[in-house]
Amino acid sequence: MAKERILKGIGVSKGICQGEVFVYETKEVKIVQTPIPARYLATEVERFTKALQKTEKELSSIKERINAEIGVDFAQFLDAQILMLKDREIIESVSERIKIEKTNAEYVYHKVLDEYAKKLGASRDQYLRERVADIWDVGMRVLRNLLGMTHSSVVDVPQGSVLVAHDISPSDAALINPNNVLGLAIEVGGRTSHTAITTRALEIPAVVGVENLLAKIKNGEKVILDGNRGILIKSPTPGRIQFYRGEIKKEIEYQKMLSPFCELPAKTRDGRQLDISANIEFFVEYSHAKRSGAMGIGLFRTEFLYLTRRGNPSEEEQFRVYDELAKKMKPDPVIIRTYDLGGDKIFSDYHEANPFLGWRAIRVSLDDFDFFKIQLRAILRASVNRNIRIMYPMISTYEEIQKARVYFKEVTEELKKEKVDFDDHIQVGIMVETPSAAILSNQLAAHVDFFSIGSNDLTQYVLAVDRGNERVSHLFDHFHPAVLRLIKQVIDAGHRSHIWVGLCGELAADPSAIPLLVGLGIDELSMSPVAIPRAKMVLRALTVPECEKIADKALNFRCASEVQKFLNRMIAKKFPGIGGIK
Ligand code: PEP
Ligand code: MG
Repeated sequence: MAKERILKGIGVSKGICQGEVFVYETKEVKIVQTPIPARYLATEVERFTKALQKTEKELSSIKERINAEIGVDFAQFLDAQILMLKDREIIESVSERIKIEKTNAEYVYHKVLDEYAKKLGASRDQYLRERVADIWDVGMRVLRNLLGMTHSSVVDVPQGSVLVAHDISPSDAALINPNNVLGLAIEVGGRTSHTAITTRALEIPAVVGVENLLAKIKNGEKVILDGNRGILIKSPTPGRIQFYRGEIKKEIEYQKMLSPFCELPAKTRDGRQLDISANIEFFVEYSHAKRSGAMGIGLFRTEFLYLTRRGNPSEEEQFRVYDELAKKMKPDPVIIRTYDLGGDKIFSDYHEANPFLGWRAIRVSLDDFDFFKIQLRAILRASVNRNIRIMYPMISTYEEIQKARVYFKEVTEELKKEKVDFDDHIQVGIMVETPSAAILSNQLAAHVDFFSIGSNDLTQYVLAVDRGNERVSHLFDHFHPAVLRLIKQVIDAGHRSHIWVGLCGELAADPSAIPLLVGLGIDELSMSPVAIPRAKMVLRALTVPECEKIADKALNFRCASEVQKFLNRMIAKKFPGIGGIK
């Protein structure tokens, strides 16, 4: 029997699962020219046809899944991709050239595709130019199938798998099928990387930052993944399996204990009401948010629409999602954050040395009004439901707010001319997640309707620690007094200008942060749906004066570990059972 081995990492999504390893490798597709003897040419063409058929099946199944997940007919781009796959001109040209050039299918197909893409890329029509990415997306899928590269995408992972990889990009993570993938372990990443956030949204346990993982594990090996402790156990002993059965039972009991809190008001013992809302990445999560007792959507990370689709969804596609979400949540508010593309959510071929400091979020939107306008129009049209709010990510200057305001006005005037109804009093807020926005919050507050503090990025930028880099993840700590002092500054500035201030980073989901944030006067906390009942339980056990005392003390420590120790002690005293499930 193989020897048990425990591989350590960082637990970023809670839960335990047992399954078989599926190693996901994004191998490069290498195209080599091979001569084909005349008697095999017909077989070569047949091989090409079969690869097309296989690809069509894959695309149809992705379409079904995306539609089921987003809940509205969103995956029309896949129809377009299937049509490209069936393009007679390409198929005939490849089939003929295989015979004429007596060359292998992948080489000819790649060449034909390249010529076709170049023609499209040179077109005057923007729509046609934008199809080049789709052509290559489909083309690479066909090429991988021709080359017998099995796992062309995370979509194809078999049922009962624990997905293991060096890295998974947020856009790949968005395509993980949680019915097949039981858990995820990767070599890179930190707690607040967007891949980690996605695993929490999909509700699959995940461990990141496992050093040399791929060298230590093989496809098909039996493992237990423990997202609570941040470990992956290879070839677990019978005793270990037994232990984890007990752990799973305990987890179920704990969830049962928490479930009544979903229905209860989010109020302190002495009656301070807080808005507890949900962060979502995918439309379907709204139902989990509602079941968990969310009082609205505090952050809809719309860029996942872009990443799932691998391109900009049309105004109509976006409108349908925003409108449906607003209707489902009514009368509770839905905060739609405009695209936060860039950073670790790579969306184009444009590569940067420092993506988190580069072309990201509002910077991308403001640089391309045509692109931004599609999203603003879709949001504003859906605001006819009267419960939508808009939020801009990564604001770092006053000018950005002004420029966004000019664009916003242009769009509203256009809609008025078209006699399209929208919410004239829609709240427009910003994420405060850069040090400059936090330091200038006093000045910025007069120009927006609300602030939502993005503690993930604020921590990253204040501490100069890449939130996705496992090497420095021990330095990433949102309890750092420098971060806490800025949070206080932002809340105070917002209140002085009579606007509400929320917090939607991972700090909001940390039970020991709740007394601190209440003490600082936060109005809203937005977190992943799974964290909501626990947050309500903690909140309902506190009083405002005790929270104020806690906040006062926490702000005066020298380092994050002192703050953490102090808060953990306090939580452990109040909730003797909560220590282990933090
Ligand atoms: C944040 O930065 O805290 C935040 C909520 O936004 P995101 O995690 O999507 O960057
Ligand atoms: Mg952010």
